[in-house]
Parts: sequence; structure tokens; C-alpha cells
Amino acid sequence: MQTSQTTTTRPTSVDLATARILANIAERAQTLFSTGGYRAQAFYTNPAVFFVFPPQIEKLPYVVDTREGKRHCNCPAFAQHKECKHILACDAMIEDDRRADEAAEWHKFGRYDHEDNAE
Ligand SMILES: [Zn+2]
Repeated sequence: MQTSQTTTTRPTSVDLATARILANIAERAQTLFSTGGYRAQAFYTNPAVFFVFPPQIEKLPYVVDTREGKRHCNCPAFAQHKECKHILACDAMIEDDRRADEAAEWHKFGRYDHEDNAE
């Protein structure tokens, strides 16, 4: 009997475990600031860097850097997986802000269009 088959299944199971962990991180990130009780505060010096405060008052805040090429969080999950719920939640928050700004811009232009058409 050949034993080569056993070696091929190994990377798949590791990838699946990692995928499950990352999916779990992403799921928890979705509600981190809404029902999760966490709170984010952007640095005054850089709006892409945040203090993320856990709901437990005795815990220190995490420092989350969302900048491209400098992505970092000082939590254990990030150290292990290069991804964590804190950084994903901050990403989502920045994206929401960007969309809100974009929507406001479109609304403004829409109004200008209406005024132009009326004339
Ligand atoms: Zn983190």
C-alpha cells in the first residue's frame, strides 16, 4: 500500500481550520461596535489609527493601525493570524464613513441637477 495519500490531506485540514478561525473573526467583527460593547476612538494625529476599548472596563485598549502596509493590532489573535476582529471592525467603520460621505456628495449633486433641469 502507498502512504502518499496521507500527506496530501494534511494541508487541507490546516487550511480549513484557519478558514474557520478567520470566518469566526470576521463574524464577530460585524457587531463589535454595535452589540459587542466595544468602542473605538481615532488618534488625533492619524484618523486611520484607533484605540479600541473592550467592554470590560479593567482591560487596556487595543491599538489598531488600519494603514496599508502598516496594518497591526496588539491583540493575541493578530499576533497569531495577522487578522483580528478589532482591525476588521475598524476597516468596516472607515468604509461606512466613506460611503456616507459619498452618499452625501451624490445627494448634493442630485439637488444641483434638479435645479438645472428646472430652469
Ligand atoms: Zn486585535
